Amino acid sequence: MPERIPEEVVDQIRLNTDIVDVISEYVQLKKQGRNYFGLCPFHGENSPSFSVSPEKQIFHCFGCGAGGNVFTFLMDHNGMSFQESVASLGEKSDVQFEFSSPEEIEPGHVNLNEKAQLEGISLLEKLFHHLLMNTEEGHEALEYLLDRGFNESQLNQYHIGWALPGWETASKLLEKKGFDLSLMEEAGLLIKRDDGSYFDRFRNRIMFPIEDAKGRTVGFSGRIIKPEKNEPKYLNSPESPLFQKNTLLFNFHRARGPIRKEKYAVLFEGFADVIAASETVSNAVATMGTSLTKQHIQQIKRLTDTVVICYDGDNAGTEAAFKASRELASSGITVKVARLPNGMDPDDYIQKFGSGQFKSEIIQHASSLMAFKMWYLRTGKNLQTEDGRLSYINAVLPEISSLSSAVEKELYLKQLSDDTGVSFSSLEEQLKTYLPVQEDIQVRNEPIAPPPKKTSILKAYQRAERYLLAYMMTGNETAYTVQDMMEGLSFPSDDYQAIYTYLLAYVEEGGALEPGAFIEYLPDRHLRSQATELKMLELNAEVTKAELADYINELNKYRQVNVIRQKEAELKQAEQINDIKTATALGMEIFQLWKALKGQHR
Ligand SMILES: [Zn+2]
Repeated sequence: MPERIPEEVVDQIRLNTDIVDVISEYVQLKKQGRNYFGLCPFHGENSPSFSVSPEKQIFHCFGCGAGGNVFTFLMDHNGMSFQESVASLGEKSDVQFEFSSPEEIEPGHVNLNEKAQLEGISLLEKLFHHLLMNTEEGHEALEYLLDRGFNESQLNQYHIGWALPGWETASKLLEKKGFDLSLMEEAGLLIKRDDGSYFDRFRNRIMFPIEDAKGRTVGFSGRIIKPEKNEPKYLNSPESPLFQKNTLLFNFHRARGPIRKEKYAVLFEGFADVIAASETVSNAVATMGTSLTKQHIQQIKRLTDTVVICYDGDNAGTEAAFKASRELASSGITVKVARLPNGMDPDDYIQKFGSGQFKSEIIQHASSLMAFKMWYLRTGKNLQTEDGRLSYINAVLPEISSLSSAVEKELYLKQLSDDTGVSFSSLEEQLKTYLPVQEDIQVRNEPIAPPPKKTSILKAYQRAERYLLAYMMTGNETAYTVQDMMEGLSFPSDDYQAIYTYLLAYVEEGGALEPGAFIEYLPDRHLRSQATELKMLELNAEVTKAELADYINELNKYRQVNVIRQKEAELKQAEQINDIKTATALGMEIFQLWKALKGQHR
C-alpha cells in the first residue's frame, strides 16, 4: 500500500519517533507498570482503559478494541492518510525525504463533499479577513474592533473578518469559483430562496471563524456592530455535518499544547473572551453558546484534570458557572472558579485592567469549587435573619458532606460557622445527618484492569492461531519458520487468515518485523485492531520450534475435526434417504478418522 514513501524512510521515522510522545499530545497518559494508561480518545469513558506500550510501540484500548501503531493512531485520530501521518512525524523527527502531496496520492480517500465545504468556508474566511483588514468597506468594523481592545495580531491570528451588507457577495463568489451551491447551503454559508436562488447567510457582520479540534475552519460566528431589532447580536453557523456545537470547543486546537503545559484549562463562556484574553491566557477554550456537554468534557479531560471556569460576573453567568462546575466535578475534574468583580465580564475587565492583571488577579486567584459554592449559595440570602441563616446552612452542609478530605470539611465548616455565628460543634453534629453525595464517589481514576485474559476460555485452536500470529509478528525469521511449518494449512478465523496473508506479503516486499512495524500495512481499522490485540499478548522472549509445532498441531486437529463433521453431515443425509450402503461406508470412514485423530494426539 504505502509505495510512494520508501520503506527505509518509514522505518527510519518510526525508529526516531516514540509513540508515547506522539499520543501524549492528545491523551493524558500515566505510567502504570510497563505501559502507559489514559482515557481512550476513540470512545467515551471515565476510567482509563487505553494503553500505550513503549516497548512494543503500539496502543490498544481494552474498552473498544481500537489499536495500532504510531502511524495508524494519527490516521484514526486525526483523519490523516498514511502518507500524511508519515509526513507529519517526519517533520518532527530529523528524517529528510520528499514525496508527492497527499492529494495526488489518494484522490478518492477524503469525503469530497466535506472537502468542497471546507474549501468554500476557507475561501470566505480569506475574503472576510481581507475586507476587514485592507478595504474601505471594512474600515468601520476595524475601528470598532480596535476600539474594543482587539489588536492587529489578534485579528490576524484568529482571522477575524468583515461580511459586506450586500445579499450576494459570498454566493456570487462561490458560484464564480465553481462551488456546488447546495453544498455551500449545507455548510451554512448560504440560504436558499423559494425560487431556488441563493443569498448570503452572513451580512453586515464582524466574522469570527470557528475551527474544529483539527484546526480546520468549520463555520463562523457573525457579530453585528449596531444591533437592530429582530437581529441577534451573534449569528452562528447552523448545525451541519462539519459544525456541531455539542462537540466544538473554540480555540481547542491552539490551546491543546498550553493546557498540557500549564496543567489546567480555562473555560470561558464566550469565544470573544478567549480572544480577548489570548495575550496572556493561551490555555483557554469556550463552548459555542451551548452548555457544557459530555463530549466537551471528554475532550478537555484528555488533556488535564483541572479546569478554571471564568464566566461573566452577572447572575446568568454565575448560574451557568455553577451548572458547569457540577458537570465537570461529576466527571472527576478538579474545578476552580475565577470570579469577576461587580458583574463584569472577562472582556470588560481586560479592557479596563489589561490582560496581564487579568491573568494574575483573576485566573491565578481562582477560588476552590467549595468556596465558590458557598459564595453562590450565600448570594440573595439575608444572614441577619434566622431564616436566611438556616436556609444557607441547609444548602451548604450537603455540599460540605460530599467533600472527601477531612481537612477541607473542617475548613469550610469553620467558615460556615463564621458566616452564620452558629457554633462549629453544632454544625459538625448536623453534618453527620447527611450522607455523602453519590456522584462524587463513583468516579474512578485508576486504570481498570484489563479484562481477564480471553485466552484462558478460548478453544485450543483459537489460542493456537493467536499465538502463532503473535510470534510471527515478532520477527521475519519466525514469520518464515511458521510459514514453512504451516504447509498449506489455513487459519480457522477469517480475520487471522487475512492478517497472516498480509504479513507474508509484507515480509515478501522486504518489510522488517520489529516493534511498531507492519500494523499500518493492514488496510482497515478492524484488522489493525485485531493485530494490535495479538501484539499485546505476553510472549516468551524466544519461541521454541516445539511450541510452534504444538500450535500448528492444534490447527491440523481443527482441520481434521472439520473433515469429520462434514462426513457426519453426509452420513445423516444418507440415512435420511435410506442409502444404507453409503451410510455404512461413511460410518466406517468416520470411525477410522476419529481413531487416527486420537492416536495422533495422545
Ligand atoms: Zn476505546
